[in-house]
Amino acid sequence: MTISVAIIGAGFAGIGAAIRLRQRGVDDVVLFERGTRVGGTWRDNTYPGAACDIPSRLYSYSFAQNPDWSHTYSSSGEILEYIDRMVEDFGVAEQIRFGHEVTGVEYDADTGEWTIRFAGRRRAVRARSVIVASGPLANPSLPDIRGIDDYEGRVIHSARWDHDYDFAGKRVAVVGTGASAVQIVPELVKTAEAVKVFQRTPGWVLPRVNRSTSGLAKRVFRAVPGAQELARSAWFWAHESVALGVVWNTPLTRVVESVSALHLRLQVDDPWMRRQLSPDFAAGCKRLLMTSDYYPALQADNCTLVTWPIARIAPRGIRTVEGIEHRFDAIVFATGFEVGKQGTPYPITGLDGRDLGTEWSDGAFAYRSVAVSGYPNLFFTFGPNSGPGHNSALVYMEAQIDFISDVIAQRERAGWKALDVRADAQERYNRDLQRRLGSTTWNSGCRSWYLTDDGFNATMFPGFATQYVNQLRRVDLQDFRILVHDREPAVAVSR
Ligand code: NAP
Repeated sequence: MTISVAIIGAGFAGIGAAIRLRQRGVDDVVLFERGTRVGGTWRDNTYPGAACDIPSRLYSYSFAQNPDWSHTYSSSGEILEYIDRMVEDFGVAEQIRFGHEVTGVEYDADTGEWTIRFAGRRRAVRARSVIVASGPLANPSLPDIRGIDDYEGRVIHSARWDHDYDFAGKRVAVVGTGASAVQIVPELVKTAEAVKVFQRTPGWVLPRVNRSTSGLAKRVFRAVPGAQELARSAWFWAHESVALGVVWNTPLTRVVESVSALHLRLQVDDPWMRRQLSPDFAAGCKRLLMTSDYYPALQADNCTLVTWPIARIAPRGIRTVEGIEHRFDAIVFATGFEVGKQGTPYPITGLDGRDLGTEWSDGAFAYRSVAVSGYPNLFFTFGPNSGPGHNSALVYMEAQIDFISDVIAQRERAGWKALDVRADAQERYNRDLQRRLGSTTWNSGCRSWYLTDDGFNATMFPGFATQYVNQLRRVDLQDFRILVHDREPAVAVSR
């Protein structure tokens, strides 16, 4: 039996795609999820302090607004509840198959269908279309530091928090000072006996003011038509304007840096510590850190910032290059993810046995981030170059799932055998994209997870969210090769 659409992953993107497909009349859709519950990154990131640094009104779908967000910025728990509620309200639950870890997908040119295989299951599934919604930040990354396997204490990664471990009275190391670490450290200093934070590169930190939503505001959002849209729009345009100082290195970047430097000056008295915490790259090159709690936590009596590079992990702690061994009961690695910017998480075999992992080995690329030539009827959410540096990922995601569900609904209606992006359209798109990336802050010379080791940017979209959304607003069928079922030669359809 062949299903219409297989969605890989039941996180924000997968669930949103199932909802939008059903709203377009495609409901023979199954979500395959390797875990035992929905939520993706918000299911996995449950470390103390886990929260979103984008306001909830904007970090949610426009078609599933929530008048009851408790704060401007929500905790991971509240976001997970929101996802659960969507699953219930839109009736997605019965479409999800848990415990299905995909091991490979393969295209069959004769039928125009994909075969999806799963770990530990003999039965494969066939689908007319596949949406890869498994996310770029799904797999935690432990750093390649000598001796890491010899460590005898507890090892905890930020994205796989060990809730059974009691930090009270413990000496704890935190390796990394990115978006996850700056949320973890303020919570850890409240419980652990001593916390040492190992910083390799300081980031630009901006204050984050988190207010609770009053009962009156919730009632207004509930009762007044358009109130939620208005609030969402206000947040959207506020973030859009920040692009001018974050996406591109402009005089406004200096303004962002000045605000951050002022924040540092106001929160940290010690000039030496301020120096250690001052970045030496353009703001926006690495992800901006939004927190008002991190600097105070670093100055807590039980917290120490360590800026000597790590030489190795020893059985009882961390040795830094100047020859000191710091002893710990536990090491928290807030060292990020195996970001999907090269290769693929599982083999994806397209037309004529082409292997996408091989094609992406130097860096991923796609057509408008959602489809790749040679891999018909296969679509990506959060595919190559779809990352925002200044606005909500959910705005980008909604544009992707709307585009993908439009293409799939058109194909299902027309009964086309296959839709394959034209190689020339994809190449044109990427040539222009990479040229534009050249003038962004991300490509301005710092090390970040946005770039491959060779400096290729396979992750970010070089522009405003509005531009990204506009490019996905309509399906340009002339950019696709459409195959019909009666074995005619390929026909290009022009509209
Ligand atoms: P990350 O941004 O990749 O940061 C990893 C940290 O680990 C960096 O400070 C890095 O230092 C450090 N590190 C890596 N290898 C190291 C080594 N060998 N020795 C010493 N330090 C090492 O990871 P993350 O903080 O988990 O965040 C990943 C992404 O998740 C974010 O960019 C964001 O997109 C998302 N996120 C979002 C939120 C939110 O509020 N919306 C919250 C958390 C995470 P260098 O900087 O020197 O490389």
